[in-house]
Amino acid sequence: FNVPTPINEPVKSYAPGTKERAELQQALQELKQQHLDIPMYIGGKEVRTGNTLTISPPHDHQYKLGQFHEGDASHVTQAIEAALAAREQWAAMPWEHRAGIFLKAAELLAGPYRARLNAATMLAQSKNAFQAEIDAACELIDFFRFNAHFMQEIYKQQPESALGMWNRLEHRPLEGFVFALTPFNFTSIAGNLPTSVAMMGNVVVWKPAYPQVYSAYVLMELFREAGLPDGVINLIYVDGPVAGDVIFNHRDFAGIHFTGSTGVFQNIWGLIGQNIHKYKSYPRIVGETGGKDFIVAHPSAHARQVATAISRGAFEFQGQKCSAASRVYIPASLYEEVKGYVQQDLASFKMGDVEDFGNFINAVITEGSFDKLARYIDAAKADSSVEIIAGGGHDKSKGYFIEPTVIVAKDPKYVTMCEELFGPVLTMYVYEDAKFEETLTLIDTTSPYALTGAIFSQDRYAIDLASKRLVNAAGNFYINDKPTGAVVGQQPFGGARASGTNDKAGSMLNLLRWTSARAIKETF
Ligand code: NAD
Repeated sequence: FNVPTPINEPVKSYAPGTKERAELQQALQELKQQHLDIPMYIGGKEVRTGNTLTISPPHDHQYKLGQFHEGDASHVTQAIEAALAAREQWAAMPWEHRAGIFLKAAELLAGPYRARLNAATMLAQSKNAFQAEIDAACELIDFFRFNAHFMQEIYKQQPESALGMWNRLEHRPLEGFVFALTPFNFTSIAGNLPTSVAMMGNVVVWKPAYPQVYSAYVLMELFREAGLPDGVINLIYVDGPVAGDVIFNHRDFAGIHFTGSTGVFQNIWGLIGQNIHKYKSYPRIVGETGGKDFIVAHPSAHARQVATAISRGAFEFQGQKCSAASRVYIPASLYEEVKGYVQQDLASFKMGDVEDFGNFINAVITEGSFDKLARYIDAAKADSSVEIIAGGGHDKSKGYFIEPTVIVAKDPKYVTMCEELFGPVLTMYVYEDAKFEETLTLIDTTSPYALTGAIFSQDRYAIDLASKRLVNAAGNFYINDKPTGAVVGQQPFGGARASGTNDKAGSMLNLLRWTSARAIKETF
């Protein structure tokens, strides 16, 4: 048995007249007509509580797309029990068969599920067709295929043996259940977090953020069709702290696979710490959290290249990407040129509904997110120490629309240079050309995060200097490229400091956290 070395799933174009565009348009209409009534899945059974919450598209918040059934603490307990009941049989399943389920999921997603999951992501998370394709289709297909391959590589690595002796390493699943907590912004993360854990033989309780329930439900349909046994992944919609209270107090809690904000992760870590004496084993704590990702241009950089990295790296996906550039450092000699190009780019971006494929910018995820971003923008408008050179508009009458906004700050520690806003707002600081080295120190010390960052330069000494001075400032560091768009199998992804435990998603490093090895020595 040999899982083939995967290649990355090609991105479809969705150009006018293509088959994929027609299929996607049909899937959008079908989903809208279905008005889905979305159950939880516990032990393979659909659970409807009658306590329903409405799902509306962020770009059209009065439209009722569907509804989901919210659970309470009793459903968390049921999900844990269902997971533990499935554990023995699942853990005993040969890994080739586990791999087979997820390789089949990859094929289903590459084929019949592609349009449906992309459409769900577009409607409920307000992504355009191209963004949905990159996220929900290609990245998730890659996670399934590459993780199956990495799992095989992990099992293959065995210790040395000697004459009359046979040493081996047995990768056992964790003893208990794992909690997967997924953020609203990426469908691929929602798909990857529970499945990478399950692939290694573990059972899972999975709670998506509420704006993601819609695509999570379509994912669960996919997992079931791929042959995932009942109880291996249990999908619940329960208020975060209510779920946490049951889970972090449970003796069989064996680990958490988290992606979300830094504050929530730190709170969860504290709760686990308080309960540490209750658990059978020390739980595995894996979390990818917030970012304040930077672009720094050296005076030798190409202005057009830097501007493109800013326009795409900060504003694609409405800036709701943990890796999105949100602070930029430009030398005075390049400023006017870069500013001109960025203004040109942003003026060409159309904003609006996801069903018009010409729109580049869609809505931000919730009213809470909109209000927060609007507050920061309005404060910048009223502050004479900063200038808004693009955007600045916002309107929530139909959807939560924020114009791509660029603030230029005189103070390199201005609030929007430091805090994660998680939206289409970027702040620029213009430094004196001679102060490149001091600027690197500034970048390293301005924010507690260390997720992604990029240096633009045609000077190798400058690249080397930035690489050394910023060695701990980013888990993913880009040279002459935008700081977004990590590809599974090519740039393993994750950050340190306040950005996470850096257990690189889409790599063996992550999968290794979900096994507990037993070393066996046998003599003859
Ligand atoms: P969030 O932290 O607000 O929510 C994450 C989940 O935690 C939700 O499901 C929430 O209900 C749950 N939760 C909250 N308190 C809990 C508790 N006490 N116990 C159990 N569950 C609890 O995150 P979000 O708004 O959905 O996502 C946006 C954040 O995610 C941003 O900060 C972004 O940078 C980050 N993110 C990071 C990466 C990465 O790879 N580093 C990737 C994507 C998103």
